[in-house]
Amino acid sequence: MSTLVLAEHNGQQLHNDVRHAVTAAQSWGQPVHLLVLGHQSEKIAEQAATIHGVSRVLHVDAQQFAHPIAEDVSNQINSIITDYQVLIAAHSSFSRNVLPRVAALNDVAMISDVLDIQSDNRYLRAIYAGNVHTTIQSRDTRQILTVRGSKFAAAELNGQAEITTITAVAPFTKTRWISESRIESDRPALNSAKVVVSGGRSLGSAEKFDALLNPLAEKLGAALGATRAAVDAGYAPNEIQVGQTGVTVAPELYFAVGVSGAVQHTAGMKDSRIVVAINQDPDAPIFQVADYGLVADLFDAVPTLTNALS
Ligand code: FAD
Repeated sequence: MSTLVLAEHNGQQLHNDVRHAVTAAQSWGQPVHLLVLGHQSEKIAEQAATIHGVSRVLHVDAQQFAHPIAEDVSNQINSIITDYQVLIAAHSSFSRNVLPRVAALNDVAMISDVLDIQSDNRYLRAIYAGNVHTTIQSRDTRQILTVRGSKFAAAELNGQAEITTITAVAPFTKTRWISESRIESDRPALNSAKVVVSGGRSLGSAEKFDALLNPLAEKLGAALGATRAAVDAGYAPNEIQVGQTGVTVAPELYFAVGVSGAVQHTAGMKDSRIVVAINQDPDAPIFQVADYGLVADLFDAVPTLTNALS
């Protein structure tokens, strides 16, 4: 039996977390295969083949995977699942949409957000927005799990896996892709950025969010993040929400600007190496996870800090 990793990509390149998922996949000591689904995606399959630890890339190139929908992806995985004892993907909104469907089709448990693989069926995982860690054991014959990328090292890029082309299953006809809106940015991707500057509802408007945080992020070469309250208020796009129901980040440096530090937010950033918080309330919970805290009005502190950075 082998271990199958579902590779996520943006049509141009593989998602960074795929390399972390490959490291996790090696825990079973079995051959690791990487599944790349795309359209005109030869380059992505070639990138995948360079990941150390991958023995085979399974490449499916078909029109329906130009904009993959979860039904097509899960049906494709299900068509080959009998060859695999373990199915893994990095924890993301994409994998959280796909893997539970595969688990349901196979009548096994879906194990999400794994932080540590302790044996071939025993895992440490986060629950209650990351406030509780629990160890679970699965007796299912097939293990299906998502892993938190930041908890596993990135596999090196010195591999030479063989690429095997496989046939696409018939497209699912009841759901179809209509459109997608993406934010184009020169900034680093949020989930792989070394520095993240996040803002909260206290920024007050989309204009102030941009005017205050963009220059700081620019100087730090940082990605922008936001709380759910800031997203819900329309100050920041949904894609940059950090937290339990957003993106999980673990940068070297995380700036929380006017962020209260609700557990649902900290669930997505508390693995950051250094956390800097600016908040005018000295009792704000964000200071409990901050390495450096500044009790100040962000409208004074952020421009001062930005100007001080060369
Ligand atoms: P607030 O809670 O309003 O805090 C604003 C902070 O700014 C306060 O601490 C205040 O002291 C400070 N402040 C105000 N003015 C200034 C100023 N001038 N200068 C400096 N500081 C100032 N939230 C997430 O972020 N991510 C998630 O993924 C997420 N998922 C959720 C899932 C569920 C099921 C639920 C129920 C909630 C979720 N939330 C999530 C929401 C979360 O509970 C909080 O409501 C949210 O994080 C609060 O955002 P905030 O800190 O921007 O706003």
